[in-house]
Amino acid sequence: MRIVLLGPPGAGKGSLAGLIKDMMGIVHISTGDMLREEMKKGTKLGLKIKGLVEKGALVPDEIVTELVEQKITRDPQLAKGYMFDGFPRTTQQAQELDRILVKVGKPLDFALYMEASLQMILTRLTGRRLCRQCGALFHLKNKPPQKVNVCDLCGGELYQRSDDNEQTIRKRMQVYETNTKLIIDYYAAQGKLRRVDGDKETIDVRDDLVTMLHEDKSYQNQRPSGS
Ligand code: ADP
Ligand code: ZN
Repeated sequence: MRIVLLGPPGAGKGSLAGLIKDMMGIVHISTGDMLREEMKKGTKLGLKIKGLVEKGALVPDEIVTELVEQKITRDPQLAKGYMFDGFPRTTQQAQELDRILVKVGKPLDFALYMEASLQMILTRLTGRRLCRQCGALFHLKNKPPQKVNVCDLCGGELYQRSDDNEQTIRKRMQVYETNTKLIIDYYAAQGKLRRVDGDKETIDVRDDLVTMLHEDKSYQNQRPSGS
């Protein structure tokens, strides 16, 4: 199954991706993570990306779609299916993705749109902490680690993303409002849009997801028998 996850920053797309990964065993690809990898390399491209990401601005479409195309055409892990998180973020990226997928003959199944209120988003993002070693997500209030600043899974150090401060969050929300909402219309017109409520508890989201995927015929056909 091939899915894109849509929704504002902090709507809970990361947790949703975790659920889907557990249910369907497909890989989760975040273009934000891919870009942060590129930033770490300290290349000229990495530095350019860093400047934009830290301002909360979008990285140019050409750069992002090039990275995505390489991933789709070269990474064997994606053969079983995948979900993109944080991509597409503009209508042009959505069109480019369709172009790539036509080329490889494997169209998208769904665009899952996760909605959430602004209040929920601010709370989620300012309290968010990540593990430096394994990337696990924690939250100061909603999912605190057992030991302060230490990952429950691997003992790694927790950190706060440099763009998870209030000023950058506001800017990211603005960028989201102007660009990304158009993509929702784009997938609605293709009949591929499905809505998930981001203000709900994880367990309820899981139930919604099960219902949705079971109602879908393409999922039924792909499901391994007996599950
Ligand atoms: P969030 O969804 O919490 O904003 P991401 O990790 O998805 O975080 O993205 C972080 C930053 O990386 C974005 O603010 C943007 O600068 C850049 N970025 C990620 N994905 C894209 C994309 N598809 N197009 C352009 N820029 C992107
Ligand atoms: Zn860890």
